[in-house]
Amino acid sequence: MNPVHTRCDVAIVGAGIIGAACAEACAAGGLNTVLIDADFPGGGITACGMGHIVVMDDSAAQWALTTRSRELWMARATSLPDNIEYDACGTLWIAANRTEMDAVEEKAAMYQQHDVHAQILNSAELARAEPELIAAMSGALLVRDDAVIYPPAAARHFAASAAVLGAVMRFGQRVQALEPGRIHFADGTILDAERIVLAAGLASNDLLPNLPLRARKGHLVISDRYPGRVRHQLVELGYLHSAHASDADSVAFNVQPRRNGQILIGSSRQFDVTDTTIDAPLLAQMLERAVGFLPFLRDVQVLRSWTGLRPATLDGLPLIGPSTQHASIWLATGHEGLGITTATATAELIAAQLLDRPCAIPAAPYWPARFAAEPTNVAT
Ligand SMILES: Cc1cc2nc3c(=O)[nH]c(=O)nc-3n(C[C@H](O)[C@H](O)[C@H](O)COP(=O)(O)OP(=O)(O)OC[C@H]3O[C@@H](n4cnc5c(N)ncnc54)[C@H](O)[C@@H]3O)c2cc1C
Repeated sequence: MNPVHTRCDVAIVGAGIIGAACAEACAAGGLNTVLIDADFPGGGITACGMGHIVVMDDSAAQWALTTRSRELWMARATSLPDNIEYDACGTLWIAANRTEMDAVEEKAAMYQQHDVHAQILNSAELARAEPELIAAMSGALLVRDDAVIYPPAAARHFAASAAVLGAVMRFGQRVQALEPGRIHFADGTILDAERIVLAAGLASNDLLPNLPLRARKGHLVISDRYPGRVRHQLVELGYLHSAHASDADSVAFNVQPRRNGQILIGSSRQFDVTDTTIDAPLLAQMLERAVGFLPFLRDVQVLRSWTGLRPATLDGLPLIGPSTQHASIWLATGHEGLGITTATATAELIAAQLLDRPCAIPAAPYWPARFAAEPTNVAT
């Protein structure tokens, strides 16, 4: 007969940044928590991400989740271990022309209305802020409190912090199947759990079929060290269009200074491509785009390029809340290109709902039930 683990309150499947943050929040709330990963914390897509902590305003729900998340990151910034490399460098959304400057002004007004610091820079101010940028830019929006972190270290920190709070770590243990209240491991063992939180990224679909998840592949490149040459996370305003407006393959200028002087260069987006090999023509297109904004990049030494599959949903919002398939199985996945940013508020939402406590932001916009006809099993 298979051994049965002592029953736990909540078992979290997946120790990426999302699952690890959820484990920390659940353990902090007093739940008897088990965090499970087939490999080790932060080794999945979390290790492929850019680590930009950024507020985004595609929708009211995205705004609520990203601003609350960033607030939570900022609140703990000074207590994070040094290897997370938290750097409050801010974001510069670059406007290439007058039309994009109009968009900058609209964004600034909206951010300021919600007490999020945002400052308009004209062309000369932008040139002083980022001397390596081509001079032809019209200006930018500076979002001062956005930051950069090293995501795998953050996932490891959340998991370690959960363990200190009493959570049990089960790493190197692949989950084979889920049933309500029970987890079956590939080695034949079983864990009983009152609630299961499925945070296995794209692989969540292997354990709970028919989730509205799809892959959105991205490429990144990292350079050797060039300290001081890039000072903020630099993103072309046109990124918002390429990232969110269509299903076609796209590239955008999105460049990040690492604390050690390395430069992380992105980004690309391809829907439903699950082959993780480098697409050389697309990578070349992405680098050309970056060189168009920062000409010195043409001469930098590139150390490595890689790809990652963002776990995307059909409406651009993550799945956070009870699954529609089993009342005891919850989801925390589908964060696409914002999972590093939104791990903190995702964890807060999951823990608050499991503990039946008030949520800091409305939870319903992220409930998986929005993709199903039947109602969810928790009250609004
Ligand atoms: C190119 C790129 C750039 C990005 N840039 C940013 C950015 O700048 N800012 C931002 O906020 N986000 C960014 N993201 C998005 C972010 O990386 C993801 O949203 C986030 O990492 C998803 O984390 P996760 O914990 O859901 O998934 P994962 O990190 O993939 O974790 C899932 C875990 O589940 C485990 N697992 C899977 N199946 C099983 C199983 N059967 N049994 C046990 N364990 C299992 C895996 O081992 C893995 O550790 C980027 C992503 C990419 C690809």
